[in-house]
Amino acid sequence: MEENTTNTNSKPVLNFIEEIIEQDLKNGKNAARVHTRFPPEPNGYLHIGHAKSICLNFGLAKKYNGKCNLRFDDTNPTKEDVEYVDSIREDVKWLGFNWDGEYFASDYFEQLYEWAVLLIKKGKAYVCDLSQEEMSTYRGTPTKPGTESPYRMRSIEENLDLFLRMKNGEFADGSRVLRAKVDMASPNMHMRDPILYRILHSEHHRTGDKWCIYPMYDYAHGQSDSIEGITHSICTLEFEVHRPLYDWFIRELEIHAPQQIEFARLNISYTLMSKRKLLELVNEKYVSGWDDPRMPTICGIRRRGYTPESLRNFADIIGVAKRDNVIDVALLEHCIREDLNKKAMRVMTVLNPLKVIIDNYPDTTEELDAINNPEDETAGSRKLPFSREIYVERDDFMEEPSKKYFRLSPGNEVRLRYAYFIKCESFVKDANGEITELHCTYDPASRGGNSPDGRKVKGTIHWVSAAHAADVEVRLFDRLFTAHNPEEYPEGGSYKDNLNPDSLKVLQNCKAEPFLKDVPVLSSFQFERLGYFCVDKDSAAGKMVFNRTVSLKDSWAKIEKKND
Ligand code: ATP
Ligand code: MG
Repeated sequence: MEENTTNTNSKPVLNFIEEIIEQDLKNGKNAARVHTRFPPEPNGYLHIGHAKSICLNFGLAKKYNGKCNLRFDDTNPTKEDVEYVDSIREDVKWLGFNWDGEYFASDYFEQLYEWAVLLIKKGKAYVCDLSQEEMSTYRGTPTKPGTESPYRMRSIEENLDLFLRMKNGEFADGSRVLRAKVDMASPNMHMRDPILYRILHSEHHRTGDKWCIYPMYDYAHGQSDSIEGITHSICTLEFEVHRPLYDWFIRELEIHAPQQIEFARLNISYTLMSKRKLLELVNEKYVSGWDDPRMPTICGIRRRGYTPESLRNFADIIGVAKRDNVIDVALLEHCIREDLNKKAMRVMTVLNPLKVIIDNYPDTTEELDAINNPEDETAGSRKLPFSREIYVERDDFMEEPSKKYFRLSPGNEVRLRYAYFIKCESFVKDANGEITELHCTYDPASRGGNSPDGRKVKGTIHWVSAAHAADVEVRLFDRLFTAHNPEEYPEGGSYKDNLNPDSLKVLQNCKAEPFLKDVPVLSSFQFERLGYFCVDKDSAAGKMVFNRTVSLKDSWAKIEKKND
């Protein structure tokens, strides 16, 4: 691949996180250990943005001989579910990573509670009875300092008593919270006495009804990192403003201090990346499920035919940035093309079949040699049945060819891939004017597709023997959204206005090489001239369904050339 400003080939020696880590290692910080974690909230399926975070956290652990935990940030019982926990495990494994420890923030509820008591005893936390509206008024604005809550001066004894009773379930949801006593005048809104605990009489998918108070993200996250001995707590940029609070808790509790480091979250053009909105698309049936091949979820991308290698390579190429940016979706497509080009077996499949009868071909079948993958000698070759009646693509014939059209047209000769030269002699039309079949002749001396006398044919087309063909369904996908940024829509609209109404096209009557009638789910093939396709889970023996992963045309390679 060409080198250019987007840096797809030569990478800087170290990214800024690696620089921090190497400095820490040199200084012997944390006994020169590296311990990262990937901390999803199990409230949805992972998307490709998470894949970047996974590759980063597990990648750093691997590079520096460290460890990486998988931790479920399950502090929000109303939105979380074991279904999501299971899918997250599956996706991380599929991407090729094994975690060292598997933990749940809920494992630490007891410890977090004790620490909250400790903060109360230090005079650093208090129970506040303000209503939500009052609290937000008291909070002030970024330019106007907040006002201290009238409950801020409660005695330690009263706070201990009320907090215990909150825990014991004596109070209704929303009636009280536990807040940290930090600084209501801080320019950082997150430091204005943030909430530590809220009352929520809600069943938790792991702790059941043991708890009716739940820690807030900011209180649970850093302490969970600390308990696990995390050294570098990597998160996305929006948490930069939370860092002072992250550090405040650790300092007040006098516990192991991980270092929070922020990087830019991954954005991809024409792609939406928010679990909440993806859940809406699923619930409102805009897609068939979380694993719809048009979804940017890891399971959707997997079903679409992406390989773990291609995603890891993508994460590697985009690197880590300190500023938000948008990655061209063409780069992601480029990565899967590169990978499948090396791995995928070439086969012939006709999507829109047109029958061709080779009138001078005998009534027999012969076997022709076809190369499985020109990029991989070890892939070997296979035998292709050839007979008198074949299918070709409808758009490989034109009754009145335009100037640069070198495929089939009356009187014109083309090469059938791996087979013979054939010449179109006549065609048949039905009452509607639609072409129903072509009559051709072949040149026996051109067997294998080689010119017998040096005469040139410009077009080479793919084909399938009619009597031997497997009937298959093919699903063609286009972008789920038509807008470069699906989140940009006119006032009063919604990102759903940007949905592409033509993002799925199903072709029912496709004709494939015979062996494709029964191939394993998720196996990938290059359909010659058409793209890369992957076997969908909706397949059954004899009725296979193929998803188009990506077409052959590499728009990224073009972009790169232009940038040179
Ligand atoms: P979403 O807003 O899509 O629900 P989230 O940030 O709420 O995402 P979490 O489950 O909390 O999802 O995220 C787990 C980890 O993945 C976090 O460390 C988060 O920073 C990271 N992450 C989430 N989205 C992206 C993204 N687009 N790019 C990079 N990392 C991401
Ligand atoms: Mg989140």
